[in-house]
Amino acid sequence: MRVKRVKDEKDKACVLIVDDEKGIRDASERIISRMGCRALKASCGEDGLDILNKEKVSVVLLDMKMPGIDGIEVLQRIMEMDDDILVIVITGFATVETAIDAMKKGAYDFIPKPFEPDQLRIVVNRALEKIRLSSEAAKLEAQRQRTLSDLHMEQSRTRTIINALPNGVLVTNSEGRVVLVNPAFLRHIGIDKNKMPGEKVESYVNDKGFCDLAIEISQGKRMGSETDPAYEFKVKDEKYLLARGRPVLNEKNECLGAVINLVDITAIKALDRLKSEFVAKVSHELRSPLSTIHEQLALVIEDMVHKEASEDKQLLSRAKEKTRGLISLISDLLDLSRIESGASFGEARPVCIDNLLKGIVKFLKSKADGKKQSLVLNVCRDDIPRIVADPAALESVFGNLIVNAINYTQEGGAINVDVDIEKDNVKVVVRDNGFGIEEKYLDSIFEKFYRVKNEKTRFVTGTGLGLPIVKNIVEELNGSIHVESRPGIGTKFSVFLPVEKDR
Ligand code: ADP
Repeated sequence: MRVKRVKDEKDKACVLIVDDEKGIRDASERIISRMGCRALKASCGEDGLDILNKEKVSVVLLDMKMPGIDGIEVLQRIMEMDDDILVIVITGFATVETAIDAMKKGAYDFIPKPFEPDQLRIVVNRALEKIRLSSEAAKLEAQRQRTLSDLHMEQSRTRTIINALPNGVLVTNSEGRVVLVNPAFLRHIGIDKNKMPGEKVESYVNDKGFCDLAIEISQGKRMGSETDPAYEFKVKDEKYLLARGRPVLNEKNECLGAVINLVDITAIKALDRLKSEFVAKVSHELRSPLSTIHEQLALVIEDMVHKEASEDKQLLSRAKEKTRGLISLISDLLDLSRIESGASFGEARPVCIDNLLKGIVKFLKSKADGKKQSLVLNVCRDDIPRIVADPAALESVFGNLIVNAINYTQEGGAINVDVDIEKDNVKVVVRDNGFGIEEKYLDSIFEKFYRVKNEKTRFVTGTGLGLPIVKNIVEELNGSIHVESRPGIGTKFSVFLPVEKDR
């Protein structure tokens, strides 16, 4: 309660009575206190000015006729000190001119002496009301300034966000004149990054289709469509852009202009092209063996009556060979897409890699024997750590590499598989003394469907998917694969698989 009273006392308007007549001072003090104001008293001009120096006073009741400095001078000094203070001069009947003079010098009002309590109340109330209105007006003005600065800040924030967007943004008015353009738009289009808004859309984008779209949307000709009108176009350096526009409408649904969003779709276009190439290659690879099978079966059917059974058998076994090639192509494709989608691996468990390789070498020995090749496994040390992986995935890796070594090595050649440890990896090297690969093809052999075509490889059937499968699996196991090769000397594939120490 005490705190509240102190606060109330501080909030009260303060009225200073400066008069040399004690009776007037005391009477005025009573009236003013009853009005709920704080009253201060001074019996002469000097005392009054002293109080004003120390206290925050809103209204001064100032007698004009006092000993010492007279009222007019006190008034002047008060005005110099703080012209927000409202001074009500107290004048005798005979001094109307003084009152007029005081009003000219900045007094707010006057009250003739002697006065009734009500008269005093009225003038003081009027002064207090004026103070209240002035302070309200000042508050409103401050609020207006704040709103303006908020608005300004909001605008600059929105502009900063638009300028930071990675997508291009262009806004036009209903005449197709650019009113806003962000740096990403200018960058995508490839024009001066400092170009300002204000000109017709044609002076920013040198593409008729784009400009027509922007103008049509700006003029409200594309309203009501469910999807945003879009337009794809190319700018220099093989860069593809996609523009999508939308009309800007007011509350009455009238079109004020257009906002256009611009996205760089060059990468998507490249992917699309790769996909088409991929489909074309697959179709090609499937079509040739199928046509052969078709022709061979047609021949068999036609010749069945006339020819000997042994010839048909030859044709049929060629057809069978082609279907086998097709089946292996399709299985490779399925394997690869499963590996690429990350869904191919079975359960991982510690695998003893030298045992796994022994099994593969044993299985492929007959294939190597068929070409009179030697196929030898060299386990360089007996503490080869286990690798945590799906054994089927590891079989696919080394099976592919060894089959390739057999396929791309001439009769009587030598294939060696070495297992060793290098740093924290198990290192498996599959080397042959076969056809070898020219250096310029070494990067391409890991691409899907890539096959080196030359006199020696012509007769080797394959899909061009083996090495991409191998590389995908090895990378999935956090390992790496490297190839070294020299035409006519041989090829060496080295696979590094990290050993997980905590397993
Ligand atoms: P595929 O063997 O089915 O053609 P791969 O993806 O396994 O497909 O191999 C891609 C190409 O790399 C082969 O066509 C071949 O030209 C070359 N290549 C792979 N391994 C060897 C190797 N050991 N020696 C020589 N060339 C090889």
